[in-house]
Amino acid sequence: MSKIYRVGILGATGTVGQRFVQLLQEHPQFEITALAASDRSAGKRFAEACAWKLAGSIPENVRDIVVQPIEPPLDCDLVFASLPSSIARETEEAFARAGYPVITNSSAYRMDEDVPLMIPEINHDHIALIDRQKENRGFIKGFIVTNPNCAVASFAPPLAALHEKFGVESVILTTFQAISGAGYPGVASLDITDNVFPYIAGEEPKVETEAQKILGKFSDGVIVKADFPVSAQCFRVNVVDGHMVSCRVNLNNSATLEEVVEAMRSYPSLDLHTAPERFIEVTDEPSRPQTRLDRDNGNGMTITVGRVFPDNVFDYRFVALSHNTVRGAAGCAILNAELLISKGIL
Ligand code: NAP
Repeated sequence: MSKIYRVGILGATGTVGQRFVQLLQEHPQFEITALAASDRSAGKRFAEACAWKLAGSIPENVRDIVVQPIEPPLDCDLVFASLPSSIARETEEAFARAGYPVITNSSAYRMDEDVPLMIPEINHDHIALIDRQKENRGFIKGFIVTNPNCAVASFAPPLAALHEKFGVESVILTTFQAISGAGYPGVASLDITDNVFPYIAGEEPKVETEAQKILGKFSDGVIVKADFPVSAQCFRVNVVDGHMVSCRVNLNNSATLEEVVEAMRSYPSLDLHTAPERFIEVTDEPSRPQTRLDRDNGNGMTITVGRVFPDNVFDYRFVALSHNTVRGAAGCAILNAELLISKGIL
């Protein structure tokens, strides 16, 4: 029987924290043994502290766990983190320094040169940065691995498929992001009902820079970033879950429409528990992907791409969709942890 790793969740009561709790139910490699959140929650049973917002009840195995403050030690082998970025940097470092592998959703360390920013299907070789990180920062057992911004999780996979085969020269993006992306309680109902909101604080710089690191090459101990420019505008729209991204792409080398579609369709998934059967699903339906209908594809881990066409200004255009709290957050973090186990790093 394979080893069961004991898991702590930092920010367990939040939007992403709850998704971790849900996705870790009956996971073959992980068992939740510690939950941590703010002073508001610490000392209470999880069922008292957490305003549960997912379908169904709070799972039995976590209801009575007493929420801990966000500081080491916690009774676990590794931590999944989903804390506001304002406190993530200090807290995640404290856990890594105390010997815990930290797998995080926050943006605090994503662009640090010695920290892997991973979508495991695309750049699992970037885990090699962990050794340099430990050396640089004097971490003995612990380390930090990050996963991308939730909108980047939607479009980086199809871009990776195109970059690998034809080279990406430049990209224009417009995102249509779900309310749950702002956490709970998030956006005021009077701002988002009957409305499209053209500003998400801090989002556009993340969307314009993270994919180049993810698609970068690991060479001589560093990541050499992909050098295509990205221009992005980010909108909050009135859907609960699911980030849709409209993409226009110029390629370095010419490709037919069939080759573009085939490059995305054939991009491989991984043989890990949380990996979907199909990493990128390309639909020919003219009216898909739709957020409500397609966000749960592959249990929320598949990227659904549609409306792939030649463009009048750029080479190609397409629409990409993924589930922001699953593929864009907790699901990707769990997949990263599965990858670390498969590589013998956990
Ligand atoms: P959220 O719903 O606001 O949850 C925040 C969590 O952090 C709660 O558990 C909260 O505990 C805890 N917390 C807040 N302030 C704290 C403090 N001062 N000290 C200790 N704990 C504190 O936010 P979220 O949407 O889950 O996002 C968490 C992180 O994931 C953010 O960095 C976000 O950018 C990132 N992320 C979110 C998404 C998404 O789709 N939502 C996707 C990708 C990445 P209490 O309940 O006790 O207040």
